[in-house]
Amino acid sequence: MLLYNSATHKKEEFQTHTPGKVEMYTCGPTVYHFAHIGNLRSYIMEDVLEKFLRWSGYEVNRVMNITDVGHLSSDADTGEDKMLKGAKREHKTVMEIAQYYTDAFFDDCRKLNIKRPDVVEPATHRIDDYIRIISGLLDKGYAYQAGGNVYFDTSKLERYYVFNDHNEEDLAVGVREGVEEDANKRNKNDFVLWFTKSKFEDQALKWDSPWGVGYPGWHIECSGISMKYNGEYLDLHCGGIDNAFPHHTNEIAQSESFLGHPWCKQWFHVHHLNTNTGKMSKSKGEFLTVSLLEEKGYDPLAYRFFCLQSHYRKGLVFSWENLDNAQGAYNKLIAKIAALDPKDGEVDEAVLAQYKEKFAQQVGNDLNTSMAVTALYDALKAKTNGATKLAILDSFDQVLSLSLLDKAAAVREEQAKVKATQAQAGYTVTGEGDPEIDALVKARGEAKKAKNFAEADRIRDELKARGIEITDVPGGAVWKRD
Ligand code: AMP
Ligand code: ZN
Repeated sequence: MLLYNSATHKKEEFQTHTPGKVEMYTCGPTVYHFAHIGNLRSYIMEDVLEKFLRWSGYEVNRVMNITDVGHLSSDADTGEDKMLKGAKREHKTVMEIAQYYTDAFFDDCRKLNIKRPDVVEPATHRIDDYIRIISGLLDKGYAYQAGGNVYFDTSKLERYYVFNDHNEEDLAVGVREGVEEDANKRNKNDFVLWFTKSKFEDQALKWDSPWGVGYPGWHIECSGISMKYNGEYLDLHCGGIDNAFPHHTNEIAQSESFLGHPWCKQWFHVHHLNTNTGKMSKSKGEFLTVSLLEEKGYDPLAYRFFCLQSHYRKGLVFSWENLDNAQGAYNKLIAKIAALDPKDGEVDEAVLAQYKEKFAQQVGNDLNTSMAVTALYDALKAKTNGATKLAILDSFDQVLSLSLLDKAAAVREEQAKVKATQAQAGYTVTGEGDPEIDALVKARGEAKKAKNFAEADRIRDELKARGIEITDVPGGAVWKRD
């Protein structure tokens, strides 16, 4: 597989430390609020990457942290503690907030068919590991104590700024949002490994350490959790593009300095979901959630489909119109698959293999998911029987996770139910009977959908006066003449 590596700034052949096995790490959510659909864009694309690697035959060990301590409102160690901010907002404890929003995050993931990583570890569970790494960094001279805190000394590195091909705006995030300069830092980019002298008198969570009672900085949690569960050699590290700097840059600095050898081979960064007013962000307060999409009548998987239609290394603009289009295209795709007959022939293994090979090449070119979506339509047009087309779609959907076959089967089942009802009662299906009556029945259905019940009732009465009786059935309505 060819994958763009942010650390080398080019597409490279994907390689692993141990052949056939991928050690994969993903920066998890900061659980002080709901995840927004921008965060979830990153997790959707990372999920597709993981599933494509598995589909290609790799064994994958995927690890993710849950940030429940240490992440300040600026990524550069300034501002408020995000968890404390959430707790104050909701008059709850930090741990209650963490549990609530962790559960909410995995609920959203389930709705979006995002697989739970093999290991999920809250940052607060691995304090001893961070202390061990920080002690090692101090011993080796990569860290110093100042003003009660422990800092990483970036001047000790030969190379910092590994990801410096990203645009200025992305690199500036942490700095731009910072409000205070920390006078204890020897160099501008030094970062906190351990806070003891807290700016936050009411800091909720604190632990004992060789440097006094305090809490870890944000960056150390990912190095600590990854080393614990992925080992000393990481193959693939993922996150949104805003994580590249300073978070991932600092992860590399501290991990490699501690381990004394290169740490992670490939860096995968998903670009942002934007609205017409800029990047969607939790700290702005106004953002879209999966629940809101559902309330508005969208299928969360239509959002997944929307994300798959564009490349992960390009910004994606969200608008309701774009989502409407995705929902419409997704429904049509399901309807087309539902029209395939699973009993039409036997699976032609040679055709299936040929389609899989092409899919492997398309998706294997830097996770080209829009080509993967096109491949679904190509499969529908294949010159083969229904059983083979369904087998191809099933295989592709192991990577894309759009529940295509399940949804199509549900549509077929509903259609069968409607047909059975009609056969029983001698009803006519809309679209097959009298075009004028059909049009009225359809207009009534649309009025109901738009919650215009007065109009729906008016049409029903008009039809009744003409001797037509309507019955609602799953997925629509049928009618008969008295
Ligand atoms: P957070 O919960 O803020 O720690 O972020 C969780 C993940 O979402 C990180 O990998 C971020 O880089 C990513 N992220 C944040 N905002 C966006 C956005 N607008 N679009 C895509 N990914 C994002
Ligand atoms: Zn991280």
